[in-house]
Amino acid sequence: MLMISRIKWVLQNPLFLHHHPIKNPSFLLKTPTRNPRFFAVKPLLNPQPSHQQHHHHCQMRGLKSEATSAAAAASSSGEIHVIVGPMFAGKTSTLLRRIKTESSNGRSVAVIKSDKDTRYALDLIVTHDGEKLPCWPLANLSSFRQKLGSEAYDKLDVIGIDEAQFFEDLYDFCREAADLDGKTVIVAGLDGDYLRRSFGSVLQVIPLADSVTKLNARCELCGRQAFFTLRKTEETETELIAGAEVYMPVCRKHYVSGQVVKEAAKTVLESQRVQCGAVV
Ligand SMILES: [Zn+2]
Repeated sequence: MLMISRIKWVLQNPLFLHHHPIKNPSFLLKTPTRNPRFFAVKPLLNPQPSHQQHHHHCQMRGLKSEATSAAAAASSSGEIHVIVGPMFAGKTSTLLRRIKTESSNGRSVAVIKSDKDTRYALDLIVTHDGEKLPCWPLANLSSFRQKLGSEAYDKLDVIGIDEAQFFEDLYDFCREAADLDGKTVIVAGLDGDYLRRSFGSVLQVIPLADSVTKLNARCELCGRQAFFTLRKTEETETELIAGAEVYMPVCRKHYVSGQVVKEAAKTVLESQRVQCGAVV
């Protein structure tokens, strides 16, 4: 019964019939019946070559060679890779690892970071776990070519950008570097701020990117995967550059409960302030 219904399905399925016309369905019945699923499918996967199918095969070969040449062109015209995630997710470590791999493969590399981030030495990128690499501290990316010098820029293969959320000209820089100058650009930054709003221009470069990696940290409260950054203090400016004394990575549950606790604390503080004011 299974066998017959399978054949009926194959015959009734217009898609299968269109691509794999079965001129004489009776041959199916002559095949060994030990595995009905296999026997019904096998002739369809190994069709007898016909003129039409041969033509189809040639078309496929044509497409394949076009795709290969397109891939070759793409690799010579640059790449953009984006690494996002909350704080303490290892974005900078991942960026440095990729840069070091490119460098050990003989490619010329440079790393840019925002000059706003002065937590460690200005011309060094330092990860939370203490790894270091020399870098270019810049206010904006458009000044990079001039600072480096045109000749040195032309020789460069790979550009790493750390704390990319601080660069307003990220989109134009990445597009030009990859599309026109043939560079591999590796962008690392926060996708969201402490209120989980899009941070800077990082999300804008995703449509330009070859790959996007979202890393996660460990929730400081329960150890589960953390995708968000909770600000522990009351400051409300978006760009507050600080470390573990102000921020902690949290899971969704603890992000939501953390915000609730902060709101409650704020209300208590404000009511105390009003009471103090009334006393004075
Ligand atoms: Zn948690």
